[in-house]
Amino acid sequence: MMQQPPAPNRQTTGTELVRIIDCRQAYHKESSADLVVLDGVNLSIRSGEIVGLLGRSGSGKSTLLRIIAGLLPPTAGEVIWKGSRLTGPADGISMVFQSFALFPWLTVQKNVELGLEAQGVPPAERLKLAEDAISLIGLGGYENAYPKELSGGMRQRVGLARALVVKPDLLLMDEPFSALDVLTAENLRTDLVELWAEKKLPIQSILLVTHNIEEAVLMCDRILIFSSNPGRVAHELQVPFEHPRNREDLAFRQFVD
Ligand code: ADP
Ligand code: MG
Repeated sequence: MMQQPPAPNRQTTGTELVRIIDCRQAYHKESSADLVVLDGVNLSIRSGEIVGLLGRSGSGKSTLLRIIAGLLPPTAGEVIWKGSRLTGPADGISMVFQSFALFPWLTVQKNVELGLEAQGVPPAERLKLAEDAISLIGLGGYENAYPKELSGGMRQRVGLARALVVKPDLLLMDEPFSALDVLTAENLRTDLVELWAEKKLPIQSILLVTHNIEEAVLMCDRILIFSSNPGRVAHELQVPFEHPRNREDLAFRQFVD
């Protein structure tokens, strides 16, 4: 008899945060037919899970993230966020970008405070919340530095702190490690996974876009494989083993793999 795979190490039975129903996205092209990037995208993310979205470059992953973030209305279909149709940027969804997207003329502290300013949080509270987020992701002491004074890995930590400071339910991560060198990426990934495992991140779920299979397997409870032309969820994989979600095990894996 075939052995049952062990249950995933994280419950995926939490409440549904977001559901994408039959989303289609076509970009208008002046000189040729519209480019259909997404067609028939369906997916759902529940609280408590890290979901990977694995697909080729150009398959529409960033487009889909922009739709979920409420930054781009889909050409057809809908995004249901906590039971209601999403019509624009929602409270409770934050994004981390591949290229960090920091403001170079603002300090680390001010970059992180930006999201709070938009929400009308008073200055004293902003200061405290931003300091907490900065220290959580390991940048305590760098509050007054400018992005150009920081390494790529540190800049992405600022990007993470800025996303986390609003304590979002869902964190969207668009190839967050792909602009970093291998060891820096490994470090940040390990820190993130450890904070998640220790439940220190003020979030419910992560949707991680990546084209790195190992990264998806190491970090995610569930992996959606995205097809290209047009992009849609072609397969779904449950990660069938306990994650090595502590620093020693993750470091060890680097050498055995
Ligand atoms: P991925 O993140 O998977 O690499 P993208 O969503 O960035 O894919 O892009 C998918 C396709 O849509 C690409 O062919 C890209 O050139 C095109 N595209 C992305 N954004 C736009 C835009 N704003 N206008 C027109 N075409 C776009
Ligand atoms: Mg992309």
